[in-house]
Amino acid sequence: MEKEFHVKCAKCGHRVAYVTPIAGCEQCGHDWLDADYNLDALAKTWQPNLASRPFNTMWRYWELLPLQKQDNIISMGEGGTPLLKATNLGLMLGHRHLYLKDERQGPTSSFKDRQASLAISAMKEAGVTEAVVASTGNVAISYSAYCARAGIKLWAFLTSTVPADKMRETAFYGTEVIKVTSTYDRTKIVAANFAGHKRLFVDRGVRSIAAKESMKTIAFEIAEQLGQMISEDDTGPSRAFDGPAIHPLGGGQARTAGRTSRWCVPDWYVQAVSGGLGPVGVWKGFRELYQMGFTKKMPKLALIQAAGCAPMVNSFKADLEEAEDVTDPQTRITTLATGSPGAVYPFLRNIMLEHGGVMEAVTDEEAFRAMRVMAKMDGLSMEPAAALACAGVFKLLGQQIIKPDEVVVINISGHTFPVEKHLLGDDWARTLGTAEAAALASHSPAPREGLMTALNRLDGRVKRVVIVEDEPDAARLLRRILQACGKYQIFEAQDGSTGLDLIRRERPDLILLDLMMPELDGFTLLEIVKSEEEFRDVPVIVVTAKELTSAERRRLDGQVESLLQKGSFTEEDLLGDILEALE
Ligand SMILES: *Cc1c(COP(=O)(O)O)cnc(C)c1O
Ligand SMILES: [Zn+2]
Repeated sequence: MEKEFHVKCAKCGHRVAYVTPIAGCEQCGHDWLDADYNLDALAKTWQPNLASRPFNTMWRYWELLPLQKQDNIISMGEGGTPLLKATNLGLMLGHRHLYLKDERQGPTSSFKDRQASLAISAMKEAGVTEAVVASTGNVAISYSAYCARAGIKLWAFLTSTVPADKMRETAFYGTEVIKVTSTYDRTKIVAANFAGHKRLFVDRGVRSIAAKESMKTIAFEIAEQLGQMISEDDTGPSRAFDGPAIHPLGGGQARTAGRTSRWCVPDWYVQAVSGGLGPVGVWKGFRELYQMGFTKKMPKLALIQAAGCAPMVNSFKADLEEAEDVTDPQTRITTLATGSPGAVYPFLRNIMLEHGGVMEAVTDEEAFRAMRVMAKMDGLSMEPAAALACAGVFKLLGQQIIKPDEVVVINISGHTFPVEKHLLGDDWARTLGTAEAAALASHSPAPREGLMTALNRLDGRVKRVVIVEDEPDAARLLRRILQACGKYQIFEAQDGSTGLDLIRRERPDLILLDLMMPELDGFTLLEIVKSEEEFRDVPVIVVTAKELTSAERRRLDGQVESLLQKGSFTEEDLLGDILEALE
């Protein structure tokens, strides 16, 4: 089956039938071309077609991808990734509509797998056998895997600051790796010149039609997944989002053919940005859905850059029409080290000016901190570049640019291993000696001395904490924060009177107390505890969802160490207060 579509010049609008990868407009020479499909005709047939296909690769959206023959597809299961709700993080931040597009689950763990699959398929279709690419790491890894599969020889030009693990992974696929001791922007020029001399095909990044078009599939998937996760009759701002992540691999959740599926657009699409290919393509995807009449709005883009290399953010804030380049990027997150965004900046800027949206920068340290928080709070280990997008969301929530009832989707990728060793330090595991291990492994019923020593060593010097909290989600969040520090023995009660018994029995070093509980509430519990000689000095931290009246504040005055408002404290606030209370 052969597909027909056109390409259109972004400058003069000249439109020609697509034949093979085209470098520029034949009328005006401009090099920003876009694939152009017959959306009106497609709008009538696409949804029933989709309903009968599995949600397991991005090729599900075949009709809107710029490849002519299905025979040329090089696929390894890219796309079709889960959309995960950030439950614990949402509780911590007081934001119930945070979703993560889990691109870690691609064949090489980043959203570049979509780009590689389409770009390498297009190379195959064009008869390319040897190609050149410049990369800050992830594109090189992904292209290497797909080129190996397609039998295309690849030359990857990487800046020397790309972590060695990523370089090795690239080489492992048989790619020729060239380290360039310079910035990424210069590396791109070196690669293009090399390709010119050797007359090889060079990947054109954001100017490649295939690369841009591949990113659309992120938008399509998000819209389909949100459409299923948001219940049909809930249209108000405080919709319930507590359904499972929809990942109907194997057809378990597949909709029946012919049924019109719902597409739903998030209020925000958030991504860490380097060259900006992702948001350019994702935007086109949402626009095509809108043009086909499947959706009624466009998302706002939140584009996050590393503070040490934020040409788009700086230029946007300075209201510049063209980007001012960063010639000496100062970030350890090499993935995001594009200092010269070129035509992508005015393109994205126009979108912001027309549709809202925001460009914001965060520091490397904020990204590393977000990386720890995401791993510990929601079990998501991601690479610093992805964590930087999460740090951006923390910041935008704090500035109330992202509102509490808005639906937010953050694009995240994997590749944690190059940084884990720096983030964890040396103290990340405890070692048991042979004798201790033997003691723990023995089945003898009476604990021997060795066993107790071993257990004590594993426990370390723990503090005992009682949590009295009737809301299971909040209790889980508090427990999770304490567990993540590894130093606390935790006892939990779901109501006031059980809590009181627990305190009397376990004699904790610290009490975390909710105020609003049925029957014996937190105020009363606090009064009883404070009236008993042996518990008077146990510190109490109140964690409450309630706006306190001044009378209530007076009741707590002098009785509690600190007061935290649920949904607005960060992990560090709580830990800081706990450590202070325990001192
Ligand atoms: C490539 C990449 C980015 C930057 O994406 P652009 O859309 O090209 O700016 C961000 N995060 C990760 C994990 C990436 O691989
Ligand atoms: Zn033109």
